[in-house]
Amino acid sequence: MVLGHETAAVVVQVGSTVTNIKVGDRVAIEPGRSCRVCSECKSGHYNRCAGMVFAATPPHSGQSLPSSSSSCSTCAPERI
Ligand SMILES: [Zn+2]
Repeated sequence: MVLGHETAAVVVQVGSTVTNIKVGDRVAIEPGRSCRVCSECKSGHYNRCAGMVFAATPPHSGQSLPSSSSSCSTCAPERI
């Protein structure tokens, strides 16, 4: 099992449709991963998703890896 419930990272790559973060941004990563297709997710209330799973909560691994991918919708860029 990989640890890392609440993690931070530096963005090294983004998809062509990503607008909220860019390469080089330091981000905090939401530990919860929603289904992104239910009515709660589609209405912006992903925290109410019945299919939510959390990083580093068995049987799901955490995010403390040298390199991993994450949804850009759950990454919060650092603001100074
Ligand atoms: Zn959902």
